[in-house]
Amino acid sequence: MARYTGAVCRLCRREGQKLYLKGDRCYTTKCGVDRRTYAPGQHGQGRKKVSEYGLQLREKQKARRIYGILEGQFRHYFGKAERQQGVTGENLLRLLERRLDNVVYRLGLGASRNEARQLVRHGHFTVNGRKVNIPSYLLRVGDVVAVREKSKESPRVKELMERAADRTPPAWLEFDADQANARVVAIPIRDQIDAPVQEHLIVELYSR
Ligand code: SF4
Repeated sequence: MARYTGAVCRLCRREGQKLYLKGDRCYTTKCGVDRRTYAPGQHGQGRKKVSEYGLQLREKQKARRIYGILEGQFRHYFGKAERQQGVTGENLLRLLERRLDNVVYRLGLGASRNEARQLVRHGHFTVNGRKVNIPSYLLRVGDVVAVREKSKESPRVKELMERAADRTPPAWLEFDADQANARVVAIPIRDQIDAPVQEHLIVELYSR
């Protein structure tokens, strides 16, 4: 499965804001955006004027980077969102939110989406009692995500479970900290998705 393997803080600096891609480090003074407030690369401190297309492109790139998705798969999600009833931009975010790696991250069972994705790939979670190691697995209302019994012995998973118990998950997820499982109780609405993205600009970009 293809994924971005380059420098991560560079992505935030390109977007000019914290995207919280590195977990705990993002809350320290080592954050790349705090240390260097300009875009990366030779021309990072140069021209600032951005065209309408540029704005739309940046918004799409930001969304991709937040959820850790490459272009082809992102377009696939957009096509799916377009075919659904309702507002396409919102549909898109709702699809991205329901990915298994994102749900694990939202529960606090991964310090970042990258870590959540890795834990999923390593088979630490089940969905409705069956092991699922596909980060893009799309959850539906009623699905139950749980930490595998065997994985509860892993020091890192244990630590994350303790941290997750102190957090409040989004209202569309019902988390049982003792059992280390969560039920999807609703499809998230836009207000419950805290991704700093103006999704209408993504729709405009793909409608060109
Ligand atoms: Fe982004 Fe986190 Fe790196 Fe800061 S530390 S630039 S928020 S990935």
